[in-house]
Amino acid sequence: MDPKSAYRELVERGRELAYLRALGALAGWDQRTYIPERGHAHRAKAFAALTGVVHRKATDPAIGRLLAAVEDSSLMEDPDVRANVIRWRRDYDRATRVPERLAVELAEAESAGESAWAEKRAQNDWAGFLPYLRRIVELKKAYAEAVGFEEELYDALLEDYEPGLTTREVARLFAELRPRALDLLKRIQASDRRPPVAILHRSYPQRDQEAFILEILPELGYDLRSGRLDPTLHPFAIRIHPGDVRITTRYFEDFFSAAFFGSVHEAGHAMYEQGLPEEHWGTPLGESVSLGVHESQSRMWENFVGRSLGFWRYFFPRAQKRFAALTGVTLEDFVFAINEVKPSLIRVEADEVTYNLHVLLRFELELALFRSELDPSDLPQAWNEKMRAYLGLEPATYADGVMQDVHWSGGSFGYFPTYTLGNVYAAQLFAAAERALGPLEERFARGEFGPLLAWLRANVHRHGRRYLPPELIERATGEPPTARYLNAYLEAKFGALYGL
Ligand code: ZN
Repeated sequence: MDPKSAYRELVERGRELAYLRALGALAGWDQRTYIPERGHAHRAKAFAALTGVVHRKATDPAIGRLLAAVEDSSLMEDPDVRANVIRWRRDYDRATRVPERLAVELAEAESAGESAWAEKRAQNDWAGFLPYLRRIVELKKAYAEAVGFEEELYDALLEDYEPGLTTREVARLFAELRPRALDLLKRIQASDRRPPVAILHRSYPQRDQEAFILEILPELGYDLRSGRLDPTLHPFAIRIHPGDVRITTRYFEDFFSAAFFGSVHEAGHAMYEQGLPEEHWGTPLGESVSLGVHESQSRMWENFVGRSLGFWRYFFPRAQKRFAALTGVTLEDFVFAINEVKPSLIRVEADEVTYNLHVLLRFELELALFRSELDPSDLPQAWNEKMRAYLGLEPATYADGVMQDVHWSGGSFGYFPTYTLGNVYAAQLFAAAERALGPLEERFARGEFGPLLAWLRANVHRHGRRYLPPELIERATGEPPTARYLNAYLEAKFGALYGL
């Protein structure tokens, strides 16, 4: 086949798949926001049908032939063609290496696992959940063997979420982080300064919170002509197309932080998707590169921007106008309160300092499972030991301990590290942006958020999947991924807040 028409057909097939996935995303958004109660059973079947169609199209043997026709040609000298073909080849090979029988067994085990998790967690029934988890771990080991890896099984799982990053590399980054985070936490706990968090638990009416969020997000760069904000139970951002990227949040009328910072976080994800190059829609160059890089965008806007003093120098007067609860509160007290550091049992409620310790714990347990150094039945004990060592806490229930996250029940092993990688990348990217743009908090204090977004657009968003994450970070910052910047950021910020 002539390489030019082969490439054209690959692009057409990619676009067709992208349109189908976009409709799936739209149906997923609806399912998690406005679907009526009796619509769920039908929606689940519609998803199963769509997933089948997408899987068949993505693994069609014709794709292998089309790729081969381009790979052997001079078309590969075009950098866009080359980048797309390399990523397509990788996706196609990974999808087709898994025997259909294993793929079906895994999908069934994950679906059963998630249902069992919801039910058994509510009953705090670890023993009842264990057989489901054991089955998923066995099947994921078979899956890792099938897709292949360089050094160890866990590499294959990481590759699904953070392509190009090995277990060895993640372990190295986390080893840079662990002792410094533990030391910082110890010093914070020894400090006699305590943030006045009660001010965040006054009355914050939902309609005022929503109006405030919708006023602020466009100033950060979230384009509401290409997005919208809706309430939900478990907040998320969802991309349908760069021209339609939606976010959701959850309101608590007696707590300011949840909806506000949750929305800024999701807007960070959404701004990345809004910034992907539309001309490459339906091809890898138009897609986000990894979960870690995605999380770097959300965590940067949520924490490095949204929880900074500079940000609130600009927005606090408006917050005070909007919320009677903030009358008489000083800017400094407010900023200290939104940055409280306090070890807790639950990852999703954790502050910037302890969050990474939650993630390290999960990474270490996952690694032990997939190195067969730990049996699934020993997870609760191992979990509690690490919780004691890292956070000085011990969960009273399985539900608040080893069963708190949905990830494992759905087979998402290798996913947790991407949360902390997001923080690592965020700090490194933010430092590079400051080298280019000057002190950013001074800009935030003047309401200037455009320069940071433009820098992210130019150095991260516009590349799509052109580079693997480690290369993308190195090109944007001049260094391969390092935890040095995250350590420095946390120590400087919380050192100042807690007077260390
Ligand atoms: Zn996120």
